[in-house]
Amino acid sequence: MKLHLPSAEIFIPDGRPVADALARVTHLGIGAHQDDLEFMAFHGILQCFHSDSEWFGGVTCTNGSGSARSGPYANFSDEEMMAVRRKEQRHAAIVGRYAAMVQLDYPSAVAKDTADSRLRADLRAILDATRPRVVYTHNPADKHDTHIAVVVPVIQAIRSLPRNQRPEAVHGCERSTGFSTARSAEANATISPCWAAAARTRHFSKATVSIKATRSPSRWTSHRSHTTTRSTSWNS
Ligand SMILES: [Zn+2]
Repeated sequence: MKLHLPSAEIFIPDGRPVADALARVTHLGIGAHQDDLEFMAFHGILQCFHSDSEWFGGVTCTNGSGSARSGPYANFSDEEMMAVRRKEQRHAAIVGRYAAMVQLDYPSAVAKDTADSRLRADLRAILDATRPRVVYTHNPADKHDTHIAVVVPVIQAIRSLPRNQRPEAVHGCERSTGFSTARSAEANATISPCWAAAARTRHFSKATVSIKATRSPSRWTSHRSHTTTRSTSWNS
């Protein structure tokens, strides 16, 4: 699979050949930032973790250069922070037994540039290589502009696929941002985030219009996860 940025990486936790590793993906999560997937796509990660036949594939679109830094990271340069975030995401893929973890490494400004089609083309290549049954990505009503800069090309890439190659379900997930650390820790300790999200799944009529062309039966659902405090403070 050819990706546009030379700095993009495809990490296969169990060392399988790349094409084989991608072809086994059944659930694909596509997020803007490192760690977005572990909150918003936890439902798919967990489902695949306990399955012998289903595999989660992760895609992180941006490079982490805008991550806020404090404490031990206070004096880190953008480049050092990017290396930390990339390594963290690899570790998450190992712990979560992902089939593959793709880090596209786009600066947020490039992802937001609607005249630049490279992100959309990379996402299409990933969809071609994985043919997922289920896709998790950001919610089109998300207030974070980089999340929107990702969900739009995701939808465009899906709609560019032949109908019989489109996923059966596309989930628009949301990371809540108004919770205190204490409440977040409490929520994390009591329930897996996307089990809660799944229980509150609701039809998202606006997005259904956009995603109508997916293979029938198609579903678009909107998930709200009540478990995070870091998304707006860590990323740009
Ligand atoms: Zn994010």
